[in-house]
Amino acid sequence: MKVCKFGGTSMADAKVIGQACDIVQADPERRIMVVSAPGKRDGGDRKVTDLLIACAEARLRGEDAAAEKRAVLERFDAIRSDLGLADDFDREIAADLDARLAADPKHRGRFADSLKAAGEDYAARLVAAELRRRGAAARYVSPREAGMLLSDEYGNAQLLPESYASLAKLARAEGIVVFPGFFGHTRAGEVVTFPRGGSDITGSILAAAVQADLYENFTDVDSVFAANPAIVPGPEPIRELTYHEMRELSYAGFNVLHEEAVIPSIRAGVPICVKNTRRPEGPGTRIVRERAYEAGRAVGIASAEGFCTIFVSKYLMNREIGFGRRVLQIFEEEGLSYEHMPSGIDNLSIILREQAMSPEAERHVTKRLRSELDTEDVSVERGLALIMIVGEGMRYAVGMAARATAAFARAGVNIEMMNQGSSEISMMFGVKAVDLPKAVQSLYKAFFKS
Ligand code: ASP
Repeated sequence: MKVCKFGGTSMADAKVIGQACDIVQADPERRIMVVSAPGKRDGGDRKVTDLLIACAEARLRGEDAAAEKRAVLERFDAIRSDLGLADDFDREIAADLDARLAADPKHRGRFADSLKAAGEDYAARLVAAELRRRGAAARYVSPREAGMLLSDEYGNAQLLPESYASLAKLARAEGIVVFPGFFGHTRAGEVVTFPRGGSDITGSILAAAVQADLYENFTDVDSVFAANPAIVPGPEPIRELTYHEMRELSYAGFNVLHEEAVIPSIRAGVPICVKNTRRPEGPGTRIVRERAYEAGRAVGIASAEGFCTIFVSKYLMNREIGFGRRVLQIFEEEGLSYEHMPSGIDNLSIILREQAMSPEAERHVTKRLRSELDTEDVSVERGLALIMIVGEGMRYAVGMAARATAAFARAGVNIEMMNQGSSEISMMFGVKAVDLPKAVQSLYKAFFKS
């Protein structure tokens, strides 16, 4: 059997919901359908989850949230009427939304999660009704009924492993199960959500629980590409990549699936396929545990701007036991997560995401590094971009770094930093953000066009 998940853009209006239903009905193995809340229909539109968050925030400010509520109901009403379903559904969801809004907002996280989860819940009820209208045996199954228990970390929940035994029973359900993504319940019975984008996680958990043959993730792109199409025109599609390759690529901006969504399926040995709802006949991209690879071949080049470096130098640093720990302790105490730490004999650099490093945090950290560690120099450079070249085929392959550095040289780009060896399947380079496009274009030519 296959578990298929449809993202927000595949739920955005009646037309695309119809396409999602066609996909499910076209293959009797597609027996569990996980849905997101309706996403954006066009550029100026808002996602239903964002509208629901606005509802929660209005209530938490003590307002009546009438306008926000109307916006949510209008989205569902438009979908329901375009699908040609009876209007009792509108009354049902209006009453349900009122009940959620009337709950005690004292516990802010719990209150907000109950509202955030409503989008997926209503979408699943609507889709089940549409499938039945088409004559399919389809049933909405709630996370509560199926036993999807989550930790009580509101907005950031994790599955409680004991849920797997209950969820496994879905494999024996008759007909098509339509399941809302993104939320579950705590042991105390409260609604709680995964992090944003978490319907991918629901799908992956269900695929693992029922030991599916495939987890199909339907979205709005044909496949994952070997480089960012905004930088390299018409890049190669990636047909297959391993979970490790995906992790390395996601590090520098490749947004394939929600990170936590891959692990349950891959651990259970269920392959994942990312496909386009609007062109389901295409091969998409498969994410697998292992794959055959050709030595010397890269699978993709990921790149992202928005990093900064803190350089720390101190004479005889290499002889001072515990220096690195004390540097990192300062970052830990300031609540800053670091990405890399290349080091030399008397200096080291800490690379962080620029977003995390407010001017205030920068002042604080640099002051502490100077005063507590007696450093000679501490300086900060912003505007760094990272480029990752990734591929299982890079294991033990000779000449990969030479090919990459020659490509940088041809593009006239100075390499500010290089990290090769901590992962066998990737090489990482730091360049000035302004040099990013020409560096990626030159690397793409070197690794994919030759
Ligand atoms: N609707 C939720 C969000 O926008 C979850 C999801 O779509 O996966 O984050």
